[in-house]
Amino acid sequence: MWICPYCGGNHGIPFHDEQLDGMLCLSEDCGRFVEEDAIREDRSEWDYMDF
Ligand SMILES: [Zn+2]
Repeated sequence: MWICPYCGGNHGIPFHDEQLDGMLCLSEDCGRFVEEDAIREDRSEWDYMDF
């Protein structure tokens, strides 16, 4: 389940664009865009550190 890192809500829709790739939070108080590329980069960084 997707969880917004800003508000902790789980109501989001996938949003893809020529420049953006991620999830758009649907919470009324939030409404922020969360890039998925940033999350992936963080993960690969952790994998590299384990290696
Ligand atoms: Zn949110």
